[in-house]
Amino acid sequence: MDYSNELFDTAKRYIPGGVNSPVRAFRSVNGTPFFTKKANGPYLYTVDGIQLIDFVCTWGPAIHGHNHPDIKQAITSALDKGTSFGTPNSYEVSMAKLLQKIVPSVEKVRMCNSGTEATMSAIRLARGYTRKNKVIKFAGCYHGHTDSLLVKAGSGALTLGNSDSAGIPQSLAEETIVLEYNDISSLEEVFKSYKEKIACVIIEPYPANCGLILPKENFLLKLRSITEQNQALLIFDEVMTGFRVSLGGAQEKEGIIPDLTAMGKIIGGGLPVGALGGKASIMDYLAPEGPVYQAGTLSGNPLALSAGITALQLLIDQNPYSLLEKLGRQISNALLDTANSKGIPLQVPQVGSMFALFFTENPVTNFTEATHSDTESFARFFNNNLKNGVYLPPSPYETCFISTAHSSSVIDQATDIMCRSLLSI
Ligand SMILES: *Cc1c(COP(=O)(O)O)cnc(C)c1O
Repeated sequence: MDYSNELFDTAKRYIPGGVNSPVRAFRSVNGTPFFTKKANGPYLYTVDGIQLIDFVCTWGPAIHGHNHPDIKQAITSALDKGTSFGTPNSYEVSMAKLLQKIVPSVEKVRMCNSGTEATMSAIRLARGYTRKNKVIKFAGCYHGHTDSLLVKAGSGALTLGNSDSAGIPQSLAEETIVLEYNDISSLEEVFKSYKEKIACVIIEPYPANCGLILPKENFLLKLRSITEQNQALLIFDEVMTGFRVSLGGAQEKEGIIPDLTAMGKIIGGGLPVGALGGKASIMDYLAPEGPVYQAGTLSGNPLALSAGITALQLLIDQNPYSLLEKLGRQISNALLDTANSKGIPLQVPQVGSMFALFFTENPVTNFTEATHSDTESFARFFNNNLKNGVYLPPSPYETCFISTAHSSSVIDQATDIMCRSLLSI
C-alpha cells in the first residue's frame, strides 16, 4: 500500500497522529492505515487500487452499504435547493414524525449533528430535569467524547489505554459513577449510597464499543425498574444499536421504554446527524420551551436529513432484520466451528448484523472480562484478513457490521476468508 503509506506520512505532519479520529490510526493492530479512494456497496477501494469487503461500514452508519443510489439521489435533489437554511425546514418535520413512529420511547425529538452531541445534551437535560448531578455509566460503554462520559469509556479511548482522558477536571469526573455492565447488585448499592443524588443512568443497551457484550436475562428490565423507583432518568444510548438491531432499536427488541434516547450513525445515512428523543414532558425542558440550553448552527441540515430520512425509509420498506440476523449467525457460527476444530479459544458474540471476536475461553459479560482477551491474536487475525481482502475494525474492542449490500455470495466469500485467516493466526 505505497500510496497510502505516502499519504499517511504527509498526514502525520499536519494532523495529530495523521487521523481525525484515533482508532483509524491502526495502532492496536500494529499497522498503518490505508486511505480510501471510494466506497460502493459492501466494498472499499483504497488509493492503492485494492478492493476490500468492508465490515466496518463507516463504524455503523452504512447499514445499506456505501453510496446507496436512493440516498445519493435524495442528497442530490436536496442539494438543488440549497445546502443550509438556518430556518425551520420541512425535512425536520418529516424526520421528527418518522422517529416518533419508529422509536418506541420517542414522543418528541431534537436533531443535532453527532452522537456525542446527543449524549451530551441528554446528560444536561437529565440533570436539568431532575435537578440532580450524578450520572451512572457502565465500564466499556462509549458515549462519545463528552467530558463527563469519557470515564472508563470504550472505543478509541479504550485501545489507547487512557480510559480517562487528560483535560477532564477531576471535579467533573467525580460526578460520574462507573459500574460494571450486567451487575445489578452494585447498581442497587450505588442507588442506596447516593440516594436523591443520581440524575440518570446512561447505557449502551448492547455495549458495542468494547467488542460486543450482550445483556444477561432481566438486566435491562431491572435497570428500568431501579431507575424508575429512584426518580432517575434512564438514557439509552442507541447511537449504535438504533435502527441496527431492529427498526426501533434495542428498546424495541427488549421491550423497554427508556426516558431518553440518544441516536446517531444510521440516522444520518452517512452524513453527520444525531438526535435526542424521549418523553414530551422531559423533552420540553429544552430551550426555547424550557430552561435547558441546546442548539446547533447546522442542526436539521437539509442535506443530512434528506439522506437520513431516505436511509430510514429504506429500512421500513425492506425490513431487512431477519435476513441480517441470518447472515450474522452464518458468520459467527462459521468462525466458532473453525476455532473449535483447532482448539483456538474464541467467543463470537452476535446480535443481528453486529458481531465481534474475543480471543478468550470464557463468554464475555462485562468490560473486565473483555480486557482479558488476547489482543495480539486479534491483531494477527485482523492483518490476515486485510491481506486477503476483508476489512474488519482495526481494534479488538470494536464491533463488525454487516449491511444489506453484503449479498449472500459476498458473505460466503468473506466467511471463507475470515475462517482461513483464523486458522493462520
Ligand atoms: C459512535 C457512538 C457515539 C458517538 O457518536 P459520534 O457521532 O461519533 O459523536 C456515542 N455513543 C455510541 C454508543 C456510539 O457508538
